[in-house]
Formats: sequence, structure tokens, C-alpha cells
Amino acid sequence: MAICEILSVGTELLLGDILDTNAQFLSRELAARGISVLRRTTVGDNAGRLRAALQTALDAGDIVLITGGLGPTADDLTRDVACELLGFPLQTDPEIAAGLRAFFASRGMDMPQENLRQAQIPVGGTVFPNPNGTAPGIGLKKDGKCVILLPGPPREMRPMFYESAVPFLKEYTDGVIVSHTVRTMGIGESAMAHTVADLLERANPTVAPYAKTGEALLRVTARAQDSAAAEALCAPVLAEIRRRLGEKVYGLDLNGVEEAVVALLKAQGKTIATAESCTAGLISKRITDVPGASNVFQFGAVTYSNEYKEKILGVRRETLERFGAVSEATAREMAAGIRRLTGADLGLSVTGIAGPGSDGTDKPVGLCYIALDTADAQLCEELNTGRSDRAFNRFYNASHALDLARRYLERRGCT
Ligand code: AMP
Ligand code: MG
Repeated sequence: MAICEILSVGTELLLGDILDTNAQFLSRELAARGISVLRRTTVGDNAGRLRAALQTALDAGDIVLITGGLGPTADDLTRDVACELLGFPLQTDPEIAAGLRAFFASRGMDMPQENLRQAQIPVGGTVFPNPNGTAPGIGLKKDGKCVILLPGPPREMRPMFYESAVPFLKEYTDGVIVSHTVRTMGIGESAMAHTVADLLERANPTVAPYAKTGEALLRVTARAQDSAAAEALCAPVLAEIRRRLGEKVYGLDLNGVEEAVVALLKAQGKTIATAESCTAGLISKRITDVPGASNVFQFGAVTYSNEYKEKILGVRRETLERFGAVSEATAREMAAGIRRLTGADLGLSVTGIAGPGSDGTDKPVGLCYIALDTADAQLCEELNTGRSDRAFNRFYNASHALDLARRYLERRGCT
């Protein structure tokens, strides 16, 4: 059995400002994979003590998982210390540097020079992408030892653990591991965790919440002699999660809500057409990412300007003048308009302010309306991310619009 130490880095942990939830999460997830955590250590943001702690951990075991200290500032030392100790030279990666610049540009900010440190990667090491933040993770293997560096913020660390660290640790894991991801929409990560709080205490399977691009996920992981036995351990827990979260659950092991929508449309022999303003084709793109989408999707309109909302969709000028382009009334008329134009069973629309700037009205950045028009239902919902991140808002709005269609189809399928 592989022996592992968890090293938590951050002076805030020693001061008691925050609880070391990363170590708890990693202990449970590693145990579920047959990796024994024999010691946990916490050090502050100090190069000498971090180096000494890492050396001690490497002397004692095979694997060291480090969280924290990957940020851009001078007190973030983990990358430098670990790579130096294991003898991996650092080098700036142009692609990561470009990604960092794009990340700041999407928020309408200039990138501070120190952030470029996060583009430094070890030659011969493995880089773990970080879709939820700026600091990539790092995997190092040398002389039979394995060191993994993960960012401190739990909402970045957890997805990276599953997506990058787990595959990196494959040769150390014991028994057969089966993992399932319950995907939800319309509930925050902490509200979801609260609803299933007792399940999060379990050992086999473990149940862990994490967030991903505006969605809350639950990962259920079981270990057993063979996959049938591991599946049998997962099944009752998955059923219980579904029972508790109800309609919030849109699927198991899916890549996104669009997969649920396409499957439901196919099963019910229905078609969908889209009218998009702020997402400008993202919904139709995501629908058509799903193989077989041509059975259920024929047309999507990108009506970015008011002129084309009128011309193509028949949104009334009076509506646009009185309520504005980002309004419930406009969203409803867009959805009805695209359905009238195409004859599709479902007309789905979205209109919002993606940011980072405002639309010149006093409406807040991040406000969005999604609407669904069908023969038997006209639905509209208001969203507000409260964020000015353009890429995030567009993805989030597209996801929720798709989910409006998903919930409608599920309810219809039940009756
Ligand atoms: P970092 O910049 O990678 O050192 O981490 C930044 C933030 O991540 C901290 O301010 C904490 O809020 C959070 N964080 C770091 N370490 C932990 C930990 N062990 N458990 C929970 N949160 C942590
Ligand atoms: Mg720190």
C-alpha cells in the first residue's frame, strides 16, 4: 500500500483563521483509493520550513500532496521550493502565460507582473490545468517518489484533484475504484452539501461536493475487489442523493445539461429552436456538440441587436422601448418568435448583460432572462450572477436556459 503525507501550506492555517478542509477532503479521497495517509503537516508561508517539511515527508513515504502557496504573490513559495528540492528547473510556459492574460482581460483588468510566476512550469513535470482559477497544479515524479501541488482554494483544488491528480496517482491506487458524478443545476454548492451533509461523512463510498463552471457536483467514489461490488456500494447512495435533491439533479456522469436536453428531446420526439442574444450561439453550439443533435435541432437565431430581435423574431418595438432588450417581456417574445418562425416544439431564448461593462441602462451586469415557449407552457426566469466575468456569465446563462428546457421536458415526460 502506498504511503502518503498531506502537507498544508499557509500561515492563515497556523493562525487559525481558516480550517484545513483540504486535508480532510484529501484524507478521505485518498483512503477511498487505497492510499494510506500516515501523517498530516501544516507549515506557514516560509521557504525554509516548507523545504524541511517536504524533505521529511519524502523520506517517510512515497507520495506527498501539497495544497496552498501556488498563488502569484511573494509568499506563495510551494512551486519554487518543491521544484528546487526535487531538481526540476522552472521555465515560463507561453501558453499558460497567454491563458493568464486572457483570464485577466475577460475581467477587464490588467495582469499584475507577479502573476506571470504562475506560468512557470517544471521541465519534466506534469501541469494540471485549473479551469476555476489562475494557478495551475503540478505533478512531479522522481526516483519512485511522487509530489503533487494543488492550489489552496477548495473550489479550485477539488476539481483538480479529481480531474488531474487522481489519474496521476493511478499506479498507486489499490483495488477497483468506481466513481460517479451527480450533476445538478439551480442549487449552490453549500446548499447542496447541506442537503446531503450526513452522506458526506461516509467512508466507502465517499461523497464529496465540488463546483464547476457555475454548477454544483457530487462525486461518489467506491473501492472494492471488482467493479460490480464497487457499483453495488454506489447504487443506494446515488439513489438517496437523487431522492434528496430531486429535480435539481439533471444527470449522472454527463458532460453538461445539453446532453440531458438532447436525450429528453429524442425520447419524446420533440424539436427545439433557439433565439440567443447575450450567449450569441453558445446554446446552439452546446446542443450541437451532442452527437445526434440533428434529430432535435434545426435552427438557432443569434439576434444580438434590437433591430434583428424585431425583424427575425417579431419582438415588438414597443416592448423593446418600454422594457428594454434585457427584460422578461423581451425574453418571452423572443421565445415565442423563434417557435413561430420554425414550428419547433420548444422555443428557447436568452437575453442578458454578459459584462464586463453595463449595457448603458441601470440594470446590473450579470442580469439575464431566459424563456421557454411551447404549446402548453410559457416560462420565464430571471438570473443574476452578480459577476462581471463575460465568459462565465455566458456559460452560466446558456446552462440555465438549457436547464429550463430540461425541467420542462422532465415534467412533461412524467405526466
Ligand atoms: P493559496 O493562494 O494557494 O495559498 O491559497 C489561497 C486560499 O485558499 C487561502 O486564503 C484559503 O482561503 C484557501 N486555503 C488554502 N489552504 C487551505 C486549506 N488547507 N483548507 C482550506 N482552504 C485553504
Ligand atoms: Mg497561501
